[in-house]
Amino acid sequence: MSTAELAPTGTTTPGPLDPALAGRLAALVTAAPGRPRQASHAPVDGAVIGEVPTCTAEDVAEAQRRARAAQAEWAARPLAERCAVMLRYHDLVLERQEQILDVTQAETGKNRVSAFEELADVAMTARYYANTAAKHLRPTRRQGALPVLTRTVEHHHPKGLVGVISPWNYPLTLAVSDAIPALLAGNGVVLKPDAQTPFTALIAVELLFEAGLPRDLFQVVTGAGKVLGAPLIEGVEYLMFTGSTATGRIVAEQCARRLIGFSAELGGKNPMVVLADADLDKAVEGAIRACFSNSGQLCISIERMYVEDAVYDRFVPAFAERVQAMRLAAGTTWDAEMGSLVSQDQFDAVRAHVDDAVAKGARVLAGGKPRPDLGPLFYEPTVLEGVTEEMDLCRDETFGPVVAVTRVRDADEAVERANDTEYGLNASIWSSPRRGAELATRIRSGTVNVNEAYAAAWASHDAPMGGMKDSGVGRRHGAEGILKYTESQTVAVQRGLPIGPMPGLPLEKYASVMTAGLKLLKRTPFLK
Ligand code: NAD
Repeated sequence: MSTAELAPTGTTTPGPLDPALAGRLAALVTAAPGRPRQASHAPVDGAVIGEVPTCTAEDVAEAQRRARAAQAEWAARPLAERCAVMLRYHDLVLERQEQILDVTQAETGKNRVSAFEELADVAMTARYYANTAAKHLRPTRRQGALPVLTRTVEHHHPKGLVGVISPWNYPLTLAVSDAIPALLAGNGVVLKPDAQTPFTALIAVELLFEAGLPRDLFQVVTGAGKVLGAPLIEGVEYLMFTGSTATGRIVAEQCARRLIGFSAELGGKNPMVVLADADLDKAVEGAIRACFSNSGQLCISIERMYVEDAVYDRFVPAFAERVQAMRLAAGTTWDAEMGSLVSQDQFDAVRAHVDDAVAKGARVLAGGKPRPDLGPLFYEPTVLEGVTEEMDLCRDETFGPVVAVTRVRDADEAVERANDTEYGLNASIWSSPRRGAELATRIRSGTVNVNEAYAAAWASHDAPMGGMKDSGVGRRHGAEGILKYTESQTVAVQRGLPIGPMPGLPLEKYASVMTAGLKLLKRTPFLK
């Protein structure tokens, strides 16, 4: 495979894919022959990137059958072998980055550095879990019911089959990074990527096979979530869902009916707090990345900003000026700070939010307009002031390059306003490191970044990441991010005396011996 299969990199708009590459990737989808094809389109010019099959419920069942058949042999392999596959995958993803970035940009219209961020995240996830799976998964001695007499060990067995439903906004990392720990834990995976971005997911999966993953273990089905979601959930033992809160509720109900576990990584309306003791130059640059990475189509990006009164009149004009100067461009050059929005729906939603706010009295400090001169779905990075409750974007997620700035009296008001939301995904605080870290624990969100936009917490792969409140259920990353794909099992071996009454001992006597024993245990600190 070479980058010659795509438009040349470095200057131009990528895609459509070379037919040979598109055909090879589409062939990875599990679909009966003759299924209708569906095209994915480049956001920057509407060109057809390639076509994949429109799968049916029968295809999902076949994908599940194949992955299930491959899973037992995979789970029986030594863990070190499974980890070696992921370390090879890490290297391949970095080696093939030009082509992966081109495909990702072609399908999403995002700027190159945003595409690179997700590629780096895939590599980091593969390395982290390959290096720590043994620690997370190994059988662990637990305190037994009775000291010395009960030997208790916790085991972790693979669930079996894991379903992954992923969105279009980070189509590379969200297609495979949650699957990596599932695979390492010994599971098979069936992935349903978003219909807008199948090829980015497929190129990531193809490299897994090249790294040595058994072909049948990882299955991909393409098509509409409304059609494929239910049969997918019907035939797996765990669901990893990333997408909107509305869809999260639908899949949660379906998982509940089947009594299977699930994680849902959902929407946000993430706040940034800028306090008087912040380094304002760094805060301006941080805010640019926080609000406009991936054109604001980032679940953990900032849409609300609370700035302390003492620095508001210095920070906000400097931020607005920097936003006005941002470099917007399509194409594969590295210098674009922001690219296109992904689809007409996203574009319409962003424009509707800004127009509604402006019509109701919000002031535009920067941006606020479409940019058809750059591409049909370009929208300027936008800063609004004077946003009030009756405006749609005040509380609803825009999921685009729009931020509302608000003046606050002090840190207490900033925390109170930050927490005044149904969501709880991410937050960013700019202050002295110590004060910022203290305030962070008062914010009800799954991650809080101090003096950073979002990457410090997200890329701390050893620590859990996920949403509180309507932003999600469960966590990815860290121990939770792999153990959720396992069934915990407790094996307790009782030696010598039984836990119940001993033969011949009167029950009343047994109760008094136990009572004395329990009192003794409480007084013996090393036995807890
Ligand atoms: P979406 O919920 O519409 O779609 C996400 C996925 O769900 C797609 O693959 C889609 O095909 C599928 N889907 C749609 N209807 C379904 C159904 N009835 N049953 C099963 N699957 C179905 O979300 P979207 O609008 O494409 O993505 C943007 C949203 O995702 C935003 O709200 C964003 O905040 C959120 N998001 C969250 C995270 C996170 O980690 N918390 C990451 C990325 C995106």
